[in-house]
Amino acid sequence: MGDQLGRVAVWDIRSRHLPASEYMQAHTAPGMVPWKQHFLYPATASDKRLMSVQKCVRAGGKHNDLDNVGYTPRHHTFFEMLGFFSFGDLSKAEAIRMAWHFLTQTLKLPVHRLAVTVYEKDEESYALWRDAMQLPPHAITRHGDRDNFWSMGDEGPCGPCTEIFWDTQQMDKAPEDRWIEIWNIVFMEHNRTRAGQLVPLPVRCVDTGMGLERLASNKASNFDTDLFDPLKRALQPFMPSNKVHNEQQTASPLTDVYENIIVDHIRSSAFLVADGVTPSFHGAYPDLSARSAIIADVLREEEQIFRRSLDKGIRILDHVFGQAGYQATKMVPGEVAFQLYTAHGFPLDLTRQMAVERGWQLDEAGQCQDAACGACGVCSFTTTIAVECQRLMDEHRASGRASKEMFAGSQPSSQDV
Ligand code: ATP
Ligand code: MG
Ligand code: MG
Ligand code: MG
Repeated sequence: MGDQLGRVAVWDIRSRHLPASEYMQAHTAPGMVPWKQHFLYPATASDKRLMSVQKCVRAGGKHNDLDNVGYTPRHHTFFEMLGFFSFGDLSKAEAIRMAWHFLTQTLKLPVHRLAVTVYEKDEESYALWRDAMQLPPHAITRHGDRDNFWSMGDEGPCGPCTEIFWDTQQMDKAPEDRWIEIWNIVFMEHNRTRAGQLVPLPVRCVDTGMGLERLASNKASNFDTDLFDPLKRALQPFMPSNKVHNEQQTASPLTDVYENIIVDHIRSSAFLVADGVTPSFHGAYPDLSARSAIIADVLREEEQIFRRSLDKGIRILDHVFGQAGYQATKMVPGEVAFQLYTAHGFPLDLTRQMAVERGWQLDEAGQCQDAACGACGVCSFTTTIAVECQRLMDEHRASGRASKEMFAGSQPSSQDV
């Protein structure tokens, strides 16, 4: 690979012994974070090209994947990002040619199982994939800002990107689970200021990131690879033997989701703790250890209250699941979810999850616009309540926010102190 990349400095962040002040860099959300200043001030880069293996954690912030983990075959809270960077000495054409060469010649991935996306306004990349790399038109798709304009956060280096996807050939899967994004090539061209302005970077840079777990996976899901096997085996004694069952008494796919989430979080926690992130922050906040007994009591009490809400909510939902009228549509009425939340503190997510476990849905948007029409023959509630569940929820949240803000307004702010 060396002859393809030119002169490259290799930073294996896994093997660096970092002082405490650099813990924040020991794991980051995007792989480029340690090199941010090189994009902004290229003179600070002693090498024009760098490679890295970056520990990444995406459990918060702009690139948060917490809600995806376990449900998709490809998202982890912790993963390793293989990075290749250039600070001003690589053209778009070269970057694309090198990436394609690495995947198809070095790794020998079959061309017909690869596809790419490009930024909708990036005609140059589109033409390069089509003409220079000779990809057929169906293997190149254009996307807008959300998918193909990469930015580190609300401010900082950013630019259009082209992403490479691998076809797992799982024909029964939804396209986003069948096609796995393996590599993102970002053409870092701008710096987004706090005011939201795009300012050109001093030099055009390239920032590429490839997920090691995704690249190395030869299974339909990363969670089925030998990376997670030992953790899954260790978990088995703690999993309910009958797993989760739906009405037809077939094992619920959500059992796998729970397993995935647990092994993912254990793996992440292990890496975070190894990097020095521990829950005991008593050094900076001595109150935490001084008042640990009371904190534990309060948390225990909260847990008991929540458990009581859960028991009550589950009983109410089981009642709904048993009603013939609802069974016909397999819909939990929005009104029920709303009442469960406001009257019993039963989270909307849990109602949704319990519905999905049984192959039902939560009628959040209101499927039936006019129950009075009688067309479906099963509606027993008036339309207004079901269709407006989401609105009621939003209002409820807004009133919570408003009262919080009102309360906050009567307190001294940090600036006042
Ligand atoms: P996705 O669209 O699948 O969420 P992404 O576009 O958010 O991925 P990038 O920010 O482009 O990901 O990160 C570069 C690469 O890092 C991806 O192409 C992928 O290979 C890998 N990657 C990103 N997020 C994850 C994750 N949560 N778990 C494992 N690998 C990941
Ligand atoms: Mg993502
Ligand atoms: Mg993506
Ligand atoms: Mg991407």
